[in-house]
Formats: sequence, C-alpha cells, structure tokens
Amino acid sequence: MCIFCKIVSREIPAYVLYEDQDTLAILDISQVTRGHTLILPKVHYDDFRQADDETLAKCVAVAKRLADALESAYAPLGFNLLTNCGEAAGQSVGHLHFHLIPRYDETDGLTLRFKGTEKPDLQKIQADILKKK
Ligand code: 5GP
Ligand code: ZN
Repeated sequence: MCIFCKIVSREIPAYVLYEDQDTLAILDISQVTRGHTLILPKVHYDDFRQADDETLAKCVAVAKRLADALESAYAPLGFNLLTNCGEAAGQSVGHLHFHLIPRYDETDGLTLRFKGTEKPDLQKIQADILKKK
C-alpha cells in the first residue's frame, strides 16, 4: 500500500484540512510555504493521467475551497496549484495529488521559472502534436 493510501486509511497520521467521501486534503509534511496543502483522491491512481475526469474535477474543486480557507488564515498574495506526473517531473509519491501552495513573496520556498526556447517553431510543434501536415 502506498504512503498516501496509508494516510487515507489512517494507518499513518496526517493533519487533515478537509475530507469527503472521495477526497482528502492534508498539510504537506514539508511545508514549502506556510499552508502548503495536498489534495488527493481516496482511491489510488498513480497520477493525473490515470485518473478519471470526475476525480480530477473533485480534487480541483476541493483545492478551490481550501484556497479560500488559506486566504482567510494567512492572506497569501497568490497560489500555485500543480501536480507532478512522473519522476522526471519531480513526482516522489506515486498516488495522484495536487499541491496547493500559497505564495507570499519571491523569497518564499518555491521557485518556478519558465525559461522559454528562443524562436520556437510553433507551427511545426502544433503539427507534430496534432499530426497535421
Ligand atoms: P511529489 O514530489 O510527489 O509531487 O510530492 C509529494 C509530497 O508529499 C512532498 O511534498 C512531500 O513533502 C509530501 N509527503 C511525503 N510523505 C508525506 C507524509 O507522510 N505525509 C505528508 N503529509 N506529506 C508527505
Ligand atoms: Zn495510494
């Protein structure tokens, strides 16, 4: 059983912020920023690509609800909502989860930088992906 399944079944303790029939929201043990929250389905899916649309929608709806609570508690300046899929993307726990990370300023615990490619051939990339000529 994976570590998050053990949290769902209460074999391992966690600080629970929200729970319903399908979904659990807990404080991330590492707290990248204050209030860093994980939203996960109770049923095990390895990652978002394995999960059905309804499960994904429920997780995002819970994230929205939790963002309201975090805003009331800590008045963050913004949020990142993200899910890692695969080791290459930084996934370390193989049970689908969304990180809801309140953002305070540029010196908080998260650095996310999108470094663009110079002069990307968007037409070719679109064709590659859509298999268009
Ligand atoms: P990932 O790297 O897979 O996107 O994120 C996994 C997250 O789970 C990490 O941020 C890590 O701190 C958190 N985590 C790992 N083990 C536990 C645990 O036992 N309890 C809680 N609450 N969080 C955990
Ligand atoms: Zn699991």
